Amino acid sequence: MSKPRVGIYPGTFDPVTNGHVDIIGRATRVVDRLIIAVAANPGKGPLFSLQERVEMLQEQLSLMRNGDGSRIEVRPFDKLLMHFVQDVGATIILRGLRAVSDFEYEFQMAGMNTRLNPHVETVFLMASERQQFIASRFVKEVARLGGDVAPFVPPEVALRTAKKLAQQDRRFA
Ligand code: ADP
Repeated sequence: MSKPRVGIYPGTFDPVTNGHVDIIGRATRVVDRLIIAVAANPGKGPLFSLQERVEMLQEQLSLMRNGDGSRIEVRPFDKLLMHFVQDVGATIILRGLRAVSDFEYEFQMAGMNTRLNPHVETVFLMASERQQFIASRFVKEVARLGGDVAPFVPPEVALRTAKKLAQQDRRFA
């Protein structure tokens, strides 16, 4: 029997959007086991803590799962992605690709990662037509300005985002 293919879907997931959920569902068709790797990424100044971001993904997984939940797990990481990839024995990095604007960054990152470990392939899944304009950054902006984020994120995430921003407002009031 051939070795199971382990894939990693890394990201900041601040917060997880419908676009991410779509990629997760499709990624499971490409690999046998999927690890959603949540980057601490303090440099990006995330709105949600690492633990909150992991929790939101876990919440979505429990809603998505229909019997084969053991194939997907969520793990936080705070080191070089390629080192984490080696630690968990993955051979594939999955990334979502939206517009041309994603391309340059993703192309560079995939190139650097190949130099670091040529045995690991980066596989890109094109964003679905309905989700391609969704970005965590815009979700936060829309929510901050009082807009409705329901079309872009799962309901649990919309709720948490509203709560988080209200907490922040209280702190700065
Ligand atoms: P990062 O900080 O690594 O870019 P993100 O959480 O913003 O983390 O994104 C993680 C991955 O998911 C990236 O490959 C990104 O291109 C992809 N992605 C984000 N939003 C969408 C979407 N709407 N459709 C498809 N892929 C997406």
